[in-house]
Amino acid sequence: MTEKPLKILFLAAEAVPFAKVGGLADVAGSLPGAIRALGHDVRLMIPRYGTIRSDQFHLENIGDPFTIPVGPGEEYIHLIGTTLDGGVQTYLIWNKQYFSSRDQVYGFEDDAQRFAVFGRASLAALKHLDWKPDVIHANDWHTAIVPSWLSTDGRRDPFYRDVATLFTIHNMAYQGITGRLILTFAQMEHLKHLPVEQPGVVNWMAQGIANADLVNTVSQRYAQEILTPEIGMGLDPLLLERQDRLFGVLNGIDYDQWNPAADPNVPHRFDVETLDRRVANKTALQQQARLSVQPEIPVVGMITRLDAVKGMDLMEPVLEWLLGTGEAQFVLLGTGQPQYHELFERVQDRFPERMRAFLKFDDVLARRIYAGADVFLMPSGVEPCGLGQMIAMHYGCVPVVRETGGLADTVTDYVAKRGYGTGVTWTDYTPEACIGALKRALKLYRDRKVWRRLQQRGMRADFSWSASARKYVELYRHATRVRRTKT
Ligand code: ADP
Repeated sequence: MTEKPLKILFLAAEAVPFAKVGGLADVAGSLPGAIRALGHDVRLMIPRYGTIRSDQFHLENIGDPFTIPVGPGEEYIHLIGTTLDGGVQTYLIWNKQYFSSRDQVYGFEDDAQRFAVFGRASLAALKHLDWKPDVIHANDWHTAIVPSWLSTDGRRDPFYRDVATLFTIHNMAYQGITGRLILTFAQMEHLKHLPVEQPGVVNWMAQGIANADLVNTVSQRYAQEILTPEIGMGLDPLLLERQDRLFGVLNGIDYDQWNPAADPNVPHRFDVETLDRRVANKTALQQQARLSVQPEIPVVGMITRLDAVKGMDLMEPVLEWLLGTGEAQFVLLGTGQPQYHELFERVQDRFPERMRAFLKFDDVLARRIYAGADVFLMPSGVEPCGLGQMIAMHYGCVPVVRETGGLADTVTDYVAKRGYGTGVTWTDYTPEACIGALKRALKLYRDRKVWRRLQQRGMRADFSWSASARKYVELYRHATRVRRTKT
């Protein structure tokens, strides 16, 4: 018997094409469409920031404004509707004070109040629409108030009682910690204080984890890692308690946006059958980077935020070794913390003929590096999922990555899995271990046949959103079963 299609409300603080700060916006912009393509009624809901203008999107008011119980009394909310290209019905929560007068997604002193308004308004909007989803999929701390309310007050209201919830952790680093006065503002004073919360504060990420029917994060390995004190960032005891409700689902990449056979920014487009054309992209990259044009020398590329979590503290000795051998070139594209800008400038001064650091954000150059470099290096200390390695593989650029989080789940080590590996991986967070992996990669590079197969396997790997969407649908069904046992 085929199961009936689900009704899903997808809640996020940001979504492409409306507002983007980080990877969450890519997920919220792509995943609902992929779930809809499987036949489900999924609707996206985000706040309407001042930057989301009606001359850019076809926005329509839905019904009259309604009120929600927050602050000393209530706030007026307008619900606005529009449809995304892929057909996903999207709702925007419009409130003048907290959203429409702001030109940024995050970074205000009253962010906790703003997202409390968003959460309470999204719940009220369902009654306003008279649309009851089977599941609410809440993403990151900004939306954690929703599963928290549903597992407390919501239980007393028959409209909400059997709505299941899934809470997705995109990054443990942002937990939404705020004073307990927020509960007065949100009119949720009876929300239970959790042992992992410091006295006097609410940790919204913790509340989402504690109250949702199911919890997931963006790779299976990261789902394991956050159970440890090193990566759990204080919430590991709570996650351990809920371990039987914790899952990992990899993010996908959008192959319409990332396709070396159709990418207008790739000088010489290619696919898995025409990999020989890649060498012309390498020449173009070497020219742009003002490195000597040598088709045989391996080019190691990196495209990254320059942040400690991305493994930047390993880089100086690694580059000293790599460039000191004279057997490779290195191209970096990245921006971030000033000390790492200085680090790459310093190494570039020592090896000007062998490396180029582009210290900026540049999507076009990123695509040229994916298409022209031979090796893609990701030495991350922590990596919930990671996109770079998946894009690199699809562009025939072989990943050399530290075995952590999503990197461990997407790249298989050639030596460990001889015959079907897709890259080279290492474990220890040390420069020596990274150098060891690069040495192995450079050795494999010299064997043209082995290297070609590594590239081909990477290009053929399926990291599409449709694979992730199927897994999310399984989790939604699981969440509805969990909810039924509670009601
Ligand atoms: P994170 O979200 O932690 O930054 P990911 O690997 O998940 O890391 O995603 C990074 C994305 O941002 C990739 O698509 C990468 O190509 C892109 N990116 C990072 N830095 C730059 C840059 N300086 N210029 C262009 N694209 C960049």
